[in-house]
Amino acid sequence: MDPNAKSEVVIQGIAASKGIAYGQAFLYLQSELEIPRYTVDPDKRIAEIARFDQALVVTRQQISKIQVQVTKNLSEEEALIFDAHQMVLEDQALIGETIRDFEKSGLNIETCFNNIAQRYIQAFSEIDDEYLRERAADIKDVTKRVLHVLLGQAATSLTELVEKRIIVAHDISPSEAAGIDRSAALGILTDAGSRTSHAVIVARSMKIPAVVGTSDLTKRIKNGDWLMVDGYDGVVIVNPTEHTLFRYGAIQKAKKSFESRLMSVNDLPAETLDGVAITLRANIEKPDEVALVKQYRADGVGLYRTEFLFLSSMKMPTEEQQYAAYREIVAGLAPAPVTIRTLDVGGDKPLPGDPQLIGPEANPFMGLRAIRMCLENPELFKTQLRAILRASAHGRVELMYPMISGTDELDRARVLLEEAKAELKKRGQAFDAKMRVGTMIEIPSAAIIGDLLAEKCDFFSIGTNDLIQYLLAIDRGNNRIAHLYDPSHPAVIRTLKQIADSGHAAKLKVSVCGEMAGDAFYVPLLLGLGIDELSMTPTLLPSVKFLIRAMKLSDAKKLAKDALAQTDPKKTHALVEAFYNERMMVE
Ligand code: PEP
Ligand code: MG
Repeated sequence: MDPNAKSEVVIQGIAASKGIAYGQAFLYLQSELEIPRYTVDPDKRIAEIARFDQALVVTRQQISKIQVQVTKNLSEEEALIFDAHQMVLEDQALIGETIRDFEKSGLNIETCFNNIAQRYIQAFSEIDDEYLRERAADIKDVTKRVLHVLLGQAATSLTELVEKRIIVAHDISPSEAAGIDRSAALGILTDAGSRTSHAVIVARSMKIPAVVGTSDLTKRIKNGDWLMVDGYDGVVIVNPTEHTLFRYGAIQKAKKSFESRLMSVNDLPAETLDGVAITLRANIEKPDEVALVKQYRADGVGLYRTEFLFLSSMKMPTEEQQYAAYREIVAGLAPAPVTIRTLDVGGDKPLPGDPQLIGPEANPFMGLRAIRMCLENPELFKTQLRAILRASAHGRVELMYPMISGTDELDRARVLLEEAKAELKKRGQAFDAKMRVGTMIEIPSAAIIGDLLAEKCDFFSIGTNDLIQYLLAIDRGNNRIAHLYDPSHPAVIRTLKQIADSGHAAKLKVSVCGEMAGDAFYVPLLLGLGIDELSMTPTLLPSVKFLIRAMKLSDAKKLAKDALAQTDPKKTHALVEAFYNERMMVE
């Protein structure tokens, strides 16, 4: 046995995005760097300077790669900042002084470089000139990068991810997740988080295997460690042995063949064995996902989370920018419908373009989130409504409001929508005057007054992620209580039934667009409870369709009846599991 072989460590987390990934860790930490201080032997001094030169070259290459990526993902303007960073790396004063300090002190190059750089940062930040003060920030950023390279330590920005690696972080914010380069991220692992945290939803849409709730993984591994990510069972294996690699090779093969079995229904209708056609739609976050919607044959989009347009830019998108993004999706999918949800920021999704609008809150998930923030900022809201209305002229748009808690919010939103329409008429710009308007049901109060809300809108879409969070008082992003987040809870099942009934009493279609809709396991229960449509991450469509084609709606109704009569969530779960396994032919 190799005496240097590191031993294998198995860590159980929460399965968040299916798939298996094997690769080296890209440890992403926001904490401060620890710089060791030691004297370099005189005979190693030439090598130490070479090490410094090499680190400068590597950093330069890293920055060039990031620059290309940022230009592609954001804009050339935002990529310009990296020109300034390259200039710091070429600054002969900074480099020359570091080497002179090293030759004089004999201390390791990290210590010398950091000392000199900190002096520069201090000097620049005290200058009474905005441009020069900004140079201090550039030097700070570049210094950190060079030190990371020299120390082989964790990264401080996800934009540093340029090679194929597995991201390991304490947590990832939705805006950070939106900026991840999908071609470079092999997998995502976070200490915190749960199945419905927004970063996870992004991972799933990008088909990147993810495990969350890994507790202290960031403390247990080092940058560059080899990891196996099992996004099916929520397992992470650090330094897997040959035997484990072989075992996972076999698992991956079996999963692939299971997935190709699921994919075999991709082009077939989503119809139950007793002949009922079910509408399956897609959840998307960005215009470039239109291709996925088509690839997985979704009946249009049931949830377009517009906030990602706002999260991925440091500036608020203008009406024109929003219109361009919405039109691309709507025209790209016409005549299929696209349900555009108005801005849902707040909670775990900050607004980088104008952080003051929401500000710090003690309880953000119960704070100024979504429609509440929009109604307080009518101009911002109307800008979005105009952009959505204009896009409606290019296909079939449905508008949907998030986080509605009462009828008053729908009334106020309607007034602003009418104003937006009048403004467009005045400008002579086209829109669909008959655009349907729906309400998301994701707050318990909305579920209870479904009958009242139904009088004021055209459809319901249930956001189970938030509905369960608020119904059971379980923070959807907290891994410590993730086990309590239970869709089989009788309160959840009864509430879903009540929403479906109140929608149907008013002849409204009721859909589910939370993560529960994309979980084939729960699909029979939802359909049995009377849900008419399901909307999910496009990649999950084949599994849901496969199950629908293998079941009878009459059996699903029986399942729902039994589940409603059940008092113990564990027994409900067992009923649902048996139904699923039987149809999917899982042992
Ligand atoms: C939900 O809450 O279920 C939902 C679909 O919205 P989001 O996940 O964006 O909060
Ligand atoms: Mg929600």
